[in-house]
Amino acid sequence: MTQNKVKNLIIGTGISGLTVANYLKDDYLILEKESEIGGYCRTIKNSRYVWDYAGHFYHFKTEEFKKLFLSLVEPDEIIERKKVTKIYYKDALIDYPFQTNIHQLEKDEFIECLYDLYTKEEKETYDNFLDMLYGKFGTGIVEKFLRPYNEKLYAIDLKKLDKDAMGRFFPYADFDAIIRNMKVQNNTSYNDSFLYLKKGTQYFIDKLYSKIDANKVKLNTKVVEVNTNEKYVITDANEKIYYQNLINTAPYNKFLGQIDKDKGKILEEMSYNKVLVLNLGFDKPSKRYTKEHWIYFPSKDLNFYRIGFYNNILGSDELSVYVEIGFSKDAKIDVEKELASTLDGMKKIGMIDDDIKLVDKSVIIMDPAYVHISNKTDKDLQQVTAELAEQDVYTTGRYGKWTYCSMEDCMIWAKELSEKLK
Ligand SMILES: Cc1cc2nc3c(=O)[nH]c(=O)nc-3n(C[C@H](O)[C@H](O)[C@H](O)COP(=O)(O)OP(=O)(O)OC[C@H]3O[C@@H](n4cnc5c(N)ncnc54)[C@H](O)[C@@H]3O)c2cc1C
Repeated sequence: MTQNKVKNLIIGTGISGLTVANYLKDDYLILEKESEIGGYCRTIKNSRYVWDYAGHFYHFKTEEFKKLFLSLVEPDEIIERKKVTKIYYKDALIDYPFQTNIHQLEKDEFIECLYDLYTKEEKETYDNFLDMLYGKFGTGIVEKFLRPYNEKLYAIDLKKLDKDAMGRFFPYADFDAIIRNMKVQNNTSYNDSFLYLKKGTQYFIDKLYSKIDANKVKLNTKVVEVNTNEKYVITDANEKIYYQNLINTAPYNKFLGQIDKDKGKILEEMSYNKVLVLNLGFDKPSKRYTKEHWIYFPSKDLNFYRIGFYNNILGSDELSVYVEIGFSKDAKIDVEKELASTLDGMKKIGMIDDDIKLVDKSVIIMDPAYVHISNKTDKDLQQVTAELAEQDVYTTGRYGKWTYCSMEDCMIWAKELSEKLK
């Protein structure tokens, strides 16, 4: 077994790992199990279409990281779009979010939603996510959209999710805001407009990578064992690497599985779901869907919960979409069956017809995709995280922290961590 020693050992070359390395500047080594960098921010190389791991759009809440992004990417590579997002409901397209656009429904359904919203019984505290939805929005809105859509996305009984399972990403709206929106449309949210790259999400990641020393990155190298007492990791290439600080950005559940610690019941508690992403490229544009950036599908007759349009965002002609389908963590995914149902569904909703041909596709399984945030798991993980930090083991990133966040959040945490380590 070969042996090596490094001050800061980083697991993963996603946006988190590369940002840590960028701020540490020196004295690090990054191990990446895949043959290429980028993690979930990878772009699939294809001569005809630009495809990501489902749409990955940049929206910045801090000037610091927006500036960094703009300083690294050439202006003519950047596309800025004001979001055009819809909900496909009974063969009509209504604006997203559903709750503030119920006035766009047929009259009977609108009255039902409005009545239920007005007469709902709010509570001081909610037992779970579903309870919170009924309490805040009333039966109509919940049963027409919020419940079926979120059940498809999270692939879990919503009673098992904490009331704050989606944190700031959930578009809350009070009665007043809903009524006001009926006259003066204000569908603004934290990410009302977004930046995208002509060459796909990975273009920025490649820029981050170009600023670090490529000799300090080892691809095709998977960490398979972590010894926190003696401070080394073992890789699948049978190398033993000693570290002073270990920085993990791999999914926390998988990382814990490799650690020599008593995990108690924490691994069983960590709930999450998978997402099957089908990137599909066609030879012609869609006749019906020409402007939308992405559409949400609450109907359980369709296997997908969201479809995004790379071509409408990039301004290219041929229909090029990412289709997202949610699965529970233990589900076996039959890709061919899902692809057939998807193409069927796309025909039903008038996105494709017999004239248009599927030219190319790529299949990605995001596992994990959405972690199910729970106060109990959070508390238990905080304790494990604190114990690990005492042994100079740190874990960061969306999956390393086991949370729900954006790419920018990952960069913010990565910078904070590197400053602490320096
Ligand atoms: C469907 C979906 C859509 C999204 N859309 C957006 C969006 O539009 N905008 C946005 O800001 N965010 C979006 N996100 C969130 C975004 O993907 C994440 O916040 C971000 O990519 C996480 O980066 P990371 O570096 O923390 O983790 P990852 O990208 O998961 O990187 C972890 C890296 O560790 C490597 N690794 C794992 N195990 C090992 C091991 N044992 N040894 C060595 N290497 C290992 C992996 O191969 C990977 O490269 C989306 C997420 C999902 C699921």
